[in-house]
Amino acid sequence: MENCGGEEYLFKIVVIGDSAVGKSNLLSRYARNEFNPNSKATIGVEFQTQVMEIDGKEVKAQIWDTAGQERFRAVTSAYYRGAVGALIVYDISRRLTFDNVARWLEELKMHADSNVVKMLVGNKSDLEHIREVPVEDGRKLAESEGLFFIETSALDNTNVMPAFQIVVREIYNNVS
Ligand code: GDP
Ligand code: MG
Repeated sequence: MENCGGEEYLFKIVVIGDSAVGKSNLLSRYARNEFNPNSKATIGVEFQTQVMEIDGKEVKAQIWDTAGQERFRAVTSAYYRGAVGALIVYDISRRLTFDNVARWLEELKMHADSNVVKMLVGNKSDLEHIREVPVEDGRKLAESEGLFFIETSALDNTNVMPAFQIVVREIYNNVS
């Protein structure tokens, strides 16, 4: 990609939420159009970098994934450091993961900048037949907490691109 303007942006975005809500699959779907049906703890890669162009400027989104440490509530402050965006993910088929969103928002508040752009993501929208969290509940929470909101499916690739792109666009609008 040409970078004619000489301006470059690098945004750190973190993906958080309970174990097995689909964080790693959302990222792999977004970055590589891949889905992994086996739930395995992410090993190795800490982040994926996606380059895009907004208003003719090169924007790099560095998207961080946990290595499974959320299982032990042990996501460290280093993970959040410097983050300007966050996707807070729950699983629409498991109510507990939605109830725990409040905890993740607390963590964010403790460790990240106050004006971090936040997107609440209700993942696994393909599991409509066993839904435990009404769309309306997600929407209301997002409204009261000042979050963007979207439902996604990493499995059937619904709304995955917009979930990330809306965050990147908003961050860009805030800094440019
Ligand atoms: P993480 O622990 O939050 O990173 O979750 P993973 O990405 O490892 O996914 C946990 C499990 O949920 C895996 O078995 C995935 O295949 C499955 N999964 C992830 N996203 C979806 C989705 O959108 N729909 C369905 N039905 N399953 C999903
Ligand atoms: Mg994972």
